[in-house]
Amino acid sequence: MKDNRIAGPARDADVAIVGAGIVGATLALLLGQAGLRVMLIEGRESPASWQADSAPEPRVSALTPVSQQLLTGLGVWPTVAASRLMPYTGMQVWDAEGNGEIRFSADESGVPLLGHIAENRVTLAALEQAIEGCPTITRRYGVRVSGLELPRSGAMSRVNAYQLEGAEAVSLTLSDGECVSAALVVAADGARSGLRELAGIATREHDTGQVALVTTVRTALPHQAVARQRFLPMGPLAFLPLAVNEELAQPAGQASAAQRYCSIVWSTTPEEAGRLQALPDQGFCAELRAAVENQLGEVEWAAERFSFPLHQRHAEDYVLPGLALVGDAAHAIHPLAGQGVNLGLMDAAVLAEELVAGHRRGVALGDERWLKRYSRRRRSDNALMLKLMDGFRLLFGSRQPGVRLIRNLGLGWVDGRAELKRILMRQAMGERGELPDSCKS
Ligand SMILES: Cc1cc2nc3c(=O)[nH]c(=O)nc-3n(C[C@H](O)[C@H](O)[C@H](O)COP(=O)(O)OP(=O)(O)OC[C@H]3O[C@@H](n4cnc5c(N)ncnc54)[C@H](O)[C@@H]3O)c2cc1C
Repeated sequence: MKDNRIAGPARDADVAIVGAGIVGATLALLLGQAGLRVMLIEGRESPASWQADSAPEPRVSALTPVSQQLLTGLGVWPTVAASRLMPYTGMQVWDAEGNGEIRFSADESGVPLLGHIAENRVTLAALEQAIEGCPTITRRYGVRVSGLELPRSGAMSRVNAYQLEGAEAVSLTLSDGECVSAALVVAADGARSGLRELAGIATREHDTGQVALVTTVRTALPHQAVARQRFLPMGPLAFLPLAVNEELAQPAGQASAAQRYCSIVWSTTPEEAGRLQALPDQGFCAELRAAVENQLGEVEWAAERFSFPLHQRHAEDYVLPGLALVGDAAHAIHPLAGQGVNLGLMDAAVLAEELVAGHRRGVALGDERWLKRYSRRRRSDNALMLKLMDGFRLLFGSRQPGVRLIRNLGLGWVDGRAELKRILMRQAMGERGELPDSCKS
């Protein structure tokens, strides 16, 4: 095993990022393109790839225009756009129990579009392509991190690590037995972050009591680039418009076929999800049609269904000496407003901005006091979003007549206020607080 108790310059990397999901890969590019030596460590065997003839994958994300701006600056967006990407120009949200409804449109908000729906694999493959062309990034795929040793500091007792001689380095043990040293380790390893656990960072979490059922469907009517969400008593059902290549769209040769595919995210109780999962395709499609109030006509076809448990989690600390958490490792949020990846991308942009600025001033990359600038900028925005999602979930989950009345009146009231809707929409599009330079247009 290599001796990693060495002075700074001989470290394996300036920054080791664990997890090459959308957030970790974006951070790698931000730092790599700024000239820092990055090691990207990922458990998956190989980089994500995407082929034009592949069927739409079930995991998709609504990317805000602010996230788009970030990926544009990294040179990634043109590849995403040339692959498969669905701009949406409208949003419709309504309550299953009453007549409350709110509609947003790009026209009304004074913008060309509200966001894009992208398959996660498309975004990841575009990021990987850019990473391949970045000489300062080394990839270590097919290995997992099994050990973490942080430099001694005030937080040492919590991480039970030993002091590294000569340098404030972090040491990682990989599943193949290799030891890697870096000035800073970033945990981008997702909601069940092993690194967060190894570092002893606690989370505030609660089970939302819901499971998300995810699949791709084809409907009789075109989606018209509108993202729809209906709040059902057991949880929200989202129909997100999806881009599908003309050649893949069925029935072949029919003019509107490619505009009739949606990704669905149906959040509901585990029991109900189990029931829906077990239904034959025809029965499932019929229930789906009824659940979305027949807005898109018959649901003609559904792909394989997958389910994800939905927990809300927030890390008590985002940083320790030599360690930072980003993305779902720091906060996992209910998907009802499609904010998860976007919050993670903001984490990546702010952390990169702070690290590069500190590095230029000679601040050590793992300096906890400097890292706290990142957590101060991101923690409150993320906490607010988590609270908001919880509020929505409880508000729309309530069957009390008084609450039902208030939310229906509330939806109608907001729908009638153009200026308020413009403000709300701008916020949902990511325009909140002080944006990092990489996200400004
Ligand atoms: C049903 C559903 C719908 C959603 N819809 C949206 C949406 O519309 N919009 C949106 O913004 N968000 C959405 N989200 C949330 C979004 O998917 C997540 O916020 C996002 O994927 C988090 O990205 P990440 O890079 O932080 O983590 P992940 O995507 O989880 O990536 C973590 C990576 O780390 C790797 N890894 C883990 N452990 C280790 C280890 N020990 N060593 C090495 N590698 C490791 C994993 O292999 C993985 O590649 C949705 C979530 C769900 C469940």
